[in-house]
Amino acid sequence: MKSNFNIDALVRENVKSLQPYSSARDEFKASWSEDLVFLDANENPFENGVNRYPDPQQHILKSKMAEIKNIETAQMLLGNGSDEVLDLLFRAFCEPNEDNVITMPPTYGMYGVLAGINAVENRTVFLTDDFEPNTDEILKKVDSNTKIIFICSPNNPTANSFSDEIVAEIIEKFNGLVVIDEAYIDFSEHESWTRKLSSFPNLVVTQTLSKAYGMAGIRLGICMASEEIINILNKIKPPYNVNELTQTRALEQISNPELIAAEVADILRERKLLIKALEPIGCIEHIFDTDANFLLVRVDDAQKRYIQLIEMGIVVRNRSKQPLCNNTLRFTVGTPSENKRLISTLKALD
Ligand SMILES: *Cc1c(COP(=O)(O)O)cnc(C)c1O
Repeated sequence: MKSNFNIDALVRENVKSLQPYSSARDEFKASWSEDLVFLDANENPFENGVNRYPDPQQHILKSKMAEIKNIETAQMLLGNGSDEVLDLLFRAFCEPNEDNVITMPPTYGMYGVLAGINAVENRTVFLTDDFEPNTDEILKKVDSNTKIIFICSPNNPTANSFSDEIVAEIIEKFNGLVVIDEAYIDFSEHESWTRKLSSFPNLVVTQTLSKAYGMAGIRLGICMASEEIINILNKIKPPYNVNELTQTRALEQISNPELIAAEVADILRERKLLIKALEPIGCIEHIFDTDANFLLVRVDDAQKRYIQLIEMGIVVRNRSKQPLCNNTLRFTVGTPSENKRLISTLKALD
């Protein structure tokens, strides 16, 4: 339980006093069943399925999603991918050319890119050699302008989940926002941090439909936090940030949890087989523990193997330029036949 946390102290001054844009759909909220004539939004009146503006608060999708995630709809904001959600956090809380955030490479590159876009200093604290957050160093870098600490767990590209104790310590000791990016949580043996939202008013959890849910193409990100934090983000989000096609398709997909569970189980089974098949291969030196749908592997010569794989029609990610990731490649777990092809191609390399 965290006390003495004051969200108002973190919000940017201009956001505090902001009057959000009020759309036609915000001003007149109707239930779908009523027989109403909508002449308020300058839309084309002829029905084609998408001629109307989408629901700015995605009520139907959000209530189903909140039920699945076991939280209140008021604790949830949906965005155009989690990348939009992360950007909203910068724009709501970080004063350009003044505030800073802390990230822990090797990790997802977007945090640093978004810091740059928003003119916010990115203070980096490398993970320890066993790929855990370095709590002491992180807390040393915190000053009165540190607004957000980004924690990616399971972490991309190292594939491991961080220790719950270490993450809890950071949330308890830091008085800004702690954003836990759970893009890979559906593959993980760890429980989501959303279960701790009521204990930690400075906790923000982001998830996405881009990975386990198989919907990277529709762009749907999920932000879960206290109602106070969600209200602030709602003030600055673009009114129609989740389009009609995305809302409809996402609702359809999340209404079929058996399909998602079966696909995740398939991917986890394939991951195990892939690890077993890769272990004896000559150019592979180490396969790091994984709690996600990808493997980080250390090879003898990453650039050489990367090019050889491309020549054989297989595209993987070379992560060697990231700190602590010298000579590593990242393999996403594919379909059974894709994984077989990766294995046989790697075996044939000299
Ligand atoms: C893939 C990924 C995302 C997904 O971002 P979207 O914008 O929702 O597609 C977020 N965070 C991490 C760490 C990722 O690897």
